[in-house]
Amino acid sequence: MAVREGAGSTTGLRRADCEALDAADPLAGWRRRFVLPEGVIYLDGNSLGPLPKATEAVVLEVMRGEWGEDLIASWNKHGWVDLPQRLGAKVARLLGAEPHEVVVADSISVNLFKLVAAALDLRPDRHVVVSERGNFPTDLYVAQGLRDLLGERIELRLVAAEELEAALDHDAALLMLSHIDYRSGRMHDMARLTAAAHDSGALALWDLAHSAGAVPVDLGAAGVDLAVGCGYKYLNGGPGAPAFLFVAERWQAEVRQPITGWFGHADPFAFERGYRPAAGIARFLAGTPPILSMKALEAGIDLFLEIDQQALRAKSVALTDMFIDLVDRRCAAWGLEVASPREASARGSQVSLRHLEGYPIMQALIARGVIGDFRAPDLLRFGFAPLYVRFVDVWDAVEALEAVMAGRLWDQPAFRQRATVT
Ligand SMILES: *Cc1c(COP(=O)(O)O)cnc(C)c1O
Repeated sequence: MAVREGAGSTTGLRRADCEALDAADPLAGWRRRFVLPEGVIYLDGNSLGPLPKATEAVVLEVMRGEWGEDLIASWNKHGWVDLPQRLGAKVARLLGAEPHEVVVADSISVNLFKLVAAALDLRPDRHVVVSERGNFPTDLYVAQGLRDLLGERIELRLVAAEELEAALDHDAALLMLSHIDYRSGRMHDMARLTAAAHDSGALALWDLAHSAGAVPVDLGAAGVDLAVGCGYKYLNGGPGAPAFLFVAERWQAEVRQPITGWFGHADPFAFERGYRPAAGIARFLAGTPPILSMKALEAGIDLFLEIDQQALRAKSVALTDMFIDLVDRRCAAWGLEVASPREASARGSQVSLRHLEGYPIMQALIARGVIGDFRAPDLLRFGFAPLYVRFVDVWDAVEALEAVMAGRLWDQPAFRQRATVT
């Protein structure tokens, strides 16, 4: 092993050293649990996690053995009816939450609608939702939609990250933030900002889309009120996997939400005329849960329940530190700039690079088997999911990036053709 200068330094590092790091990696065995095509370095698990090998058998069994054999009896016989709560209890273990504080349902967008409305209802004498200008678009769109619907009763106050605390005044009902920024990978200090929200009398709602399964989260310790998160990114639940939502126990008795569907009713199969909310987290359900998707998500989540979150974080930091240092050394000459925090404690499990030709550069990389993605106007994103990304993948990805830059391999019309999903 080469002599290292410090955290992330790759002075004198060779590919063989990366192989040695992989050989010594306590998480190395997990890679075999995923379907990863030959010749591909997959650095986009922050957008769509790969297929866990177990998932295929799980979904086939649900189709053949449950739906196919037991038909509608499966709702009772195979516990389909409370799958959202059972899965929520599993997700809770990754979030530092109690089992009854999380439920799996719908998409983040729909869950945000429920929770932003719920928060405003819990703070009737206040009308401001504070968020970050650069928050993920769907989060802001949902808040805008509610504002347009409710008119003067909501003001959306969007500020820069440094201005968040100052924006929390006595009108603030809710602080709504993404824990990890989807563009830069910057991670907020959840406990500090939640405390600032509470000091002003507001509630705190966190979007954990890039956190769950990527970094340790402790909603309980941070005193978080509300949260949402994604099933198809780091949790590897499959395309369009259901999302999850968290409501702290202390709010569950009084909280209300606007999508009052029958699955959130106290007694759905009594078919009463009037709506009565279920006790607890179940009132945040709306319609019939998508069982096949939920079962696929469960197979993804089950992998994480066996893994020490701190070990996952340690490897994620080592991978991202190494990538940043290698890019600095080998690719800076071509104008590639690191757009993520260099301090690991302020970074999630992704590294973003900035370049005006980011789109064709990413397409050229993908053509060489290194899969990341692009976010307009100029960001190349690389996700380092520590369950299946190896140190040697980091090395090879930077090697490919250097080749693409040095040879101007990206400078071809075909790589400029924008697809719908970038
Ligand atoms: C991916 C992502 C979403 C996705 O929302 P859906 O409605 O589930 O598609 C929301 N917020 C953030 C921060 C994301 O990164």
